[in-house]
Amino acid sequence: MSDITEKREGEFFDDVLKYFNRAAKFVNVSEGLLEQIKYCNSVYRMKFPVKVGNDYMVIEAYRAEHSHHKLPTKGGIRFSTAVNQDEVMALAALMTYKCAIVDVPFGGAKGGIKISPRKTTPEEMERITRRYTSELIKKNFIGPGIDVPAPDYGSGEREMAWIADTYATFFPNELNALACVTGKPVGQGGIRGRREATGLGVYFGIREALNVAEDCAKWGMTPGIAGKTFIIQGFGNVGFHSAKFIYEGGGKIIAIAEWNGAVYNPNGIDPMALEAHHQKTGSITNFSGGENYDKYGALEIACDVLVPAALENQINKDNVARINCKIIAEAANGPVTPEAEEVLIAKGVYIIPDIYLNAGGVTVSYFEWLKNLSHVRFGRLGKRYEESAAKNMISVVENMTGKAASDIQKSLIERGADEKDLVYSGLEETMISAYHDIRSELITTEGINDLRTAAFVVAIKKIAQSYNTLGVFP
Ligand code: NAD
Repeated sequence: MSDITEKREGEFFDDVLKYFNRAAKFVNVSEGLLEQIKYCNSVYRMKFPVKVGNDYMVIEAYRAEHSHHKLPTKGGIRFSTAVNQDEVMALAALMTYKCAIVDVPFGGAKGGIKISPRKTTPEEMERITRRYTSELIKKNFIGPGIDVPAPDYGSGEREMAWIADTYATFFPNELNALACVTGKPVGQGGIRGRREATGLGVYFGIREALNVAEDCAKWGMTPGIAGKTFIIQGFGNVGFHSAKFIYEGGGKIIAIAEWNGAVYNPNGIDPMALEAHHQKTGSITNFSGGENYDKYGALEIACDVLVPAALENQINKDNVARINCKIIAEAANGPVTPEAEEVLIAKGVYIIPDIYLNAGGVTVSYFEWLKNLSHVRFGRLGKRYEESAAKNMISVVENMTGKAASDIQKSLIERGADEKDLVYSGLEETMISAYHDIRSELITTEGINDLRTAAFVVAIKKIAQSYNTLGVFP
């Protein structure tokens, strides 16, 4: 992972406030309630020592809980040298709005540990993650009903397993201990489909946008994802899985950028082959399926859809004039600055905002949390029953028609849903219905010209409604 390329400490949370204030004008909610919604409820800033060799390394870390209107709060933990309080507050706020948009009943939170995972050994990573978890426990910033972390930039299943194990060690009698964190490996309480969930959600969101024929006509495109050209920035969890599903859906990925270089091929890149090369060599550069390219220059190649999937502030006032796409699909959090957004909207670029598009991760984290609380795998009770009901139905149809179903027909019908099927279908439904909620706000509310404002409006209305239901703001 690279350290953030352009650091704008103190500006990211302000950017989120700008978006919020722009949307608040379209919502009939009192000033007091708007204030309550937009600011961060609590932030825990910590420093703790970790033994490295014969010495100690003092680690700076954070956990921000943006909104307690629903509990637990939820949000990833980022491992990066660029972590700071402003960044975790901004990302926590985005989580609040994201959860509201996709009807996930959580408040928003985010954590950050200021280290470079690339320069930290696995043993140090484990010590740091476990110590961070015990700091959260001490201050009541983690728990199945309090605050539930997840993976983010620089962290993954391994770190989530350490968090769950540390929590369970502190609370040996807590039956629901595994629900204290999501994004765990399947063998340790995780759910099938979580690893790829954010990228799959990105794919569903882009596909839905491209399925609306009247919008495609406005962008000068034919409907559908097939044959459209894509550029992806970041080839980590979100970037790789977005690329994989876009490719499988028929999209043509012409460039992929990473922290140390990019690969370009106007005829299309196979992300699975690139991932194999990445695993083998440690880099996406020097790939036989494309030519090396400048990592920032790659974002400026003409394409239909640009998918920033790395970090915030990647499309900013310095490069916005050279961005040459019809749609920006924000797979990362905050990849477009407000200044750049103004220019892009004026040029007619359609931005599918982060608070909707990358909500697949938290949606499937919600499913994982439900699985941990119910202590049963999705599909376990119904799979065989569905299969035998389908077999009975086929035999009734065969008897009535006197014709036998083919093996292919049988294999398609006689299959009960397993956990992954249910997760994928729940995610698909969530992304499709949320897209139409925010799009309909965009097309029906006079004065709203962009999907981000529409998405914020939808989120603010839902959060305000839940405060009213609580009787806090009658
Ligand atoms: P990750 O660490 O798995 O991958 C990020 C990738 O970006 C890394 O491979 C890194 O090398 C690359 N990168 C860094 N700087 C770059 C640069 N200048 N140009 C090109 N590539 C660069 O992280 P991730 O989990 O994929 O997260 C990526 C983004 O998606 C973040 O903004 C994160 O907040 C957001 N997000 C992640 C999830 C999730 O489930 N992991 C959910 C929602 C949002």
